[in-house]
Amino acid sequence: MNSEPLIYDISVAGREGANLPEADVPLAKLPADLMREALDLPEVSELQVVRHFTNLSRKNFAIDRQFYPLGSCTMKYNPKLNEDMARLAGFAHLHPLTDASGSQGALALMHGLQTWLADIAGFAAVSLQPAAGAQGEFAGILMIRAYHHERGDEKRTKILVPNSAHGTNPATVTMAGLSAVELPSDAKGNVDLEALRAACDDTIAGMMITVPSTLGLFDSNILEVIELVHACGGLLYMDGANMNSLMGIVKAGDLGFDVMHYNLHKTFSTPHGGGGPGCGAVGVNEKLVDYLPGPIVQITDPGQEPDLPPFYELVMPRKSIGQLKAFHGNFGMHIRAYAYIRSYGGGGLREISNHAVLNANYIRVRLQDAYHVPFNRYCAHEFVMEGHWEDAPDIHALDISKRLMDYEIHPPTNYFPLIVPEALLIEPTETEDKQTLDSFIEIMIKIAEEAKAQPELLKEAPHNTPVRRVDEIRAARQLMLCCRPEPDWHKAEEKTE
Ligand SMILES: *Cc1c(COP(=O)(O)O)cnc(C)c1O
Repeated sequence: MNSEPLIYDISVAGREGANLPEADVPLAKLPADLMREALDLPEVSELQVVRHFTNLSRKNFAIDRQFYPLGSCTMKYNPKLNEDMARLAGFAHLHPLTDASGSQGALALMHGLQTWLADIAGFAAVSLQPAAGAQGEFAGILMIRAYHHERGDEKRTKILVPNSAHGTNPATVTMAGLSAVELPSDAKGNVDLEALRAACDDTIAGMMITVPSTLGLFDSNILEVIELVHACGGLLYMDGANMNSLMGIVKAGDLGFDVMHYNLHKTFSTPHGGGGPGCGAVGVNEKLVDYLPGPIVQITDPGQEPDLPPFYELVMPRKSIGQLKAFHGNFGMHIRAYAYIRSYGGGGLREISNHAVLNANYIRVRLQDAYHVPFNRYCAHEFVMEGHWEDAPDIHALDISKRLMDYEIHPPTNYFPLIVPEALLIEPTETEDKQTLDSFIEIMIKIAEEAKAQPELLKEAPHNTPVRRVDEIRAARQLMLCCRPEPDWHKAEEKTE
């Protein structure tokens, strides 16, 4: 690691970073058990602190600085306007226990967002409760379970999950107490219809399908898939985390899906990464409206136009699967998504999807000679290629990703989806311009040449980053969260091996 001095190393005894006025009130004695004699804090000036953390932040990879084609994650640029809206004092300072009459603005915003999301994906109602995509999935499968339960259909305990599904899908099924039955994909990357037909019977509670799949493909037999599952009495769950390619083009509800989650923090503008707050809103058709997680916002008094506006209240759906998140869910995300949808409007959202699809296909077509692209057909917002060549047998997807870091590009998703060996899942997003895409393509072609001519350049990469190649397994297993390691930390580590 190149040596950024620790903030402790620049500490000078007696130096202060804050300029506090003389106390003009009597000093109170703090309880002795709250006081520590030796509190070893760095003593630095304000400027030292600012420079220290600014320099550290420049070592981080950030969407505000560089291209970030991390497939399935939608690391796109989100307009700063939405950040401003989320920080408006009237929203940011609103206490979550404020009653309905004191929070009509916030409730109206949530109601507007519920309505638009329902419209965008063709559903009857939406709940903004879930805090993440995975929690939206959990809510959806619990609703499907409750639906069968209520009808006394207890033998339906299986959920079909294609092998091109996001990893959270089978995990969700298991968490919800049902069993996941994996379905193979056919040669084109669609669900294998023969296998689906064979699996459909009266023990199927439903099917969970990621659309577009993690191969970045829209299943060309989707209507047949939905019909087969409905015909055997199952419900259809769509993982709609990646709506970037679908908005204004196709509605899940119109296709026949019964329930879907949206990732507001992917498609509808919230910077994400590092496990920050999110929103995995769920939409449902008429079959499931009463089971939605609550509370949701409803108009309880339509008001008398033009004098009285409608009155909004938080309401628990009749047979709700329950509450998943404290208060209203992650309200900050609702504001950002609302502002995003309002700024672009319906036509704008459709343009966004068109650009996400165009950008991914542009890269796919321009890289298809330099890299092997399995399932090489028209893709949605992302596509998969293989990071491996027969004439460069030592090079793996990981080496390509590490080399990309030398060119200041964030690696794409590696080794996922699992059904493609040495997978590199590339999602450029709609917010990148042609110059950025061209420069990425040229770098990828150059790396393909390096892989054959100078493989050691890739094997030893990255060369230019503050931290060179790390042992990723050990980094994850032996997390060091302290900025100042214990003097013997590496010895302790050797012992554990
Ligand atoms: C990101 C993602 C999820 C999970 O969303 P989280 O908010 O990370 O829980 C689920 N499915 C797909 C297809 C995704 O891309």
